Amino acid sequence: MPINWLQPDFADERGRLKMSIHALVAETPSRRILMDTCLGNDKENRRIPNWNKLHGSFLADLAAAGYPRESIDTVVCTHLHVDHVGWNTMLVDGSRVPTFPNARYLMGRVEFAHWTAQRQCYDVAAVLADSVTPVWAAGLVDLVETDHRICDEINLVPTLGHTPGHVSVRIASRGEEALITGDFMHHPCQIARPDWSSTADTDPTEARHTRERMLTRLSDTPILVIGTHFAGRTAGHIVPDGGAFRLVA
Ligand SMILES: [Zn+2]
Repeated sequence: MPINWLQPDFADERGRLKMSIHALVAETPSRRILMDTCLGNDKENRRIPNWNKLHGSFLADLAAAGYPRESIDTVVCTHLHVDHVGWNTMLVDGSRVPTFPNARYLMGRVEFAHWTAQRQCYDVAAVLADSVTPVWAAGLVDLVETDHRICDEINLVPTLGHTPGHVSVRIASRGEEALITGDFMHHPCQIARPDWSSTADTDPTEARHTRERMLTRLSDTPILVIGTHFAGRTAGHIVPDGGAFRLVA
């Protein structure tokens, strides 16, 4: 059955899914926190051909938005997949160096152990080598638990299944609340069909259980859900819809 509400933000007129890749900044009175770092520039050995050797304007755009890279004090990696760690580093004189030299990079303890144990896998090795290891070597990584509190307003929330240590990010301020999904949902179609798992899910069964649990918890609440890969309007609220849910503005 077609999921009609996906158009036009999340699917085109022919029903083909639209996705995007977001880095999100949260600013508190004392902190500047960047959540996920997209694909990065100048990367190589990526499985998806057009993710190689990008020359995008991400850092200029971030600075133009008021957040020069030196001003970021915390980088959160919801998980260590290729499209969430790219701008952890940048290429300078042939070397990969931390893009955010004044930040602590928060990575999940379980997540980090999982991926470093798979170094022999070709594309995992590439991502670790160019986007994780240089930050680790610079002493900027803090390994954290899946419910880590970053500051008064922001804490991590375990949403396992997509990867073994996957987290979402909860923001609570002035009586309002938001949740940055990370990849426990890749596309809003999974709000209507929580049983649809992405091929990228490490454990599809656990991922489905996480979606069902989180969507049930979020449904009919004023919590703003911000999708890390949601194109179009990117954020909305979860409401019941038949036996499942839908996203509304
Ligand atoms: Zn992703």
